[in-house]
Amino acid sequence: MRDLRVIPAQLLAWYDCHARLLPWRVPPGQGPADPYRVWLSEVMLQQTTVAAVKAYFERFTELWPTVHDLAAADEAQVMAEWAGLGYYARARNLIACARAVSARGAFPTTRTGLAELPGIGPYTSAAIAAIAFDRPETVVDGNVERVVARLFAVGTPLPAAKPELVALAAGLTPGARPGDFAQAMMDLGATVCTPRSPACGLCPLGAHCAARARGIAAELPRKAPKKARPLRRGTVWIGFRGQEVLVETRPKKGLLGGTLAFPSTGWDGSDLPPPADADWREIGLVRHVFTHFALDLAVMTASLTAAPERGNLAPLSEFSPAALPGLMRKAWALARPEPSARPATTGRRGKPSRNPR
Ligand code: SF4
Repeated sequence: MRDLRVIPAQLLAWYDCHARLLPWRVPPGQGPADPYRVWLSEVMLQQTTVAAVKAYFERFTELWPTVHDLAAADEAQVMAEWAGLGYYARARNLIACARAVSARGAFPTTRTGLAELPGIGPYTSAAIAAIAFDRPETVVDGNVERVVARLFAVGTPLPAAKPELVALAAGLTPGARPGDFAQAMMDLGATVCTPRSPACGLCPLGAHCAARARGIAAELPRKAPKKARPLRRGTVWIGFRGQEVLVETRPKKGLLGGTLAFPSTGWDGSDLPPPADADWREIGLVRHVFTHFALDLAVMTASLTAAPERGNLAPLSEFSPAALPGLMRKAWALARPEPSARPATTGRRGKPSRNPR
């Protein structure tokens, strides 16, 4: 009979020696961490990897060291700094949340209070409450789902298994050092109990693991087959007038909302005319994969002679492709003038890598 009560102590002892060093963390046993840094990192990490987030986190905390600084920031600058992280609704919620926290003076200290803030769902509220306020909340991200599914040999496929995995994880959460325990579970999933080849021989929980005992660790967690993504099509227009390029800020609501972009058609079958009357020429196609669909975007370019009906002409000397979302950067890579034909631009950073969290 397995005695699961020893799991927290064994896992915390492992974490004390093997915790990942991350810029938003405090070392094991020295918590709780700064809620601003925990919140910012957790929002950035939603749908994005640790490797991709690190540089963004360091840049944001350098520009805006406190939640009050971020609350007072220029919205367009925040969106530009977010460019490349994707899922732009997170950036809009980030600003709204910073302003709400600054207005009330500080972050709420409970999961319930945190969950009332913009952009903070059940997972993020539990993570902040545990890591920043040492509340005994159960924090279940993808890494923790995998560890728990294997520890208990849960055969139900995801996502149907989620409630069962949360309940099983809750049964493990200790009253002491819950923030460290949450991070230890995440680290175990990220570094030992990895998706394809779990290093069971190095695992502090190996003696308690039902999947290991049955030799099925690498098969878990099971996942329901993914539905094929539909393919949508659209057009983007990149117009030049002398040393200027035509850009616009996308509407706040909707995909890539509030980001700097080139004028385009809708991507849901809705149509829009070109932003100016010109001799548009197709120069290629870019493909981009969003969560729910793939998009083929025809890239058109032209020299503008008439005044555009949409967008603003921005001097190329001030235009930074790094402020564009990934889709628009791909289009720009096809259309940009040769370096000899344009003034130097001021790129901030390259596209982040996509290493596993
Ligand atoms: Fe994961 Fe293996 Fe540890 Fe089980 S024993 S939790 S499968 S690494």
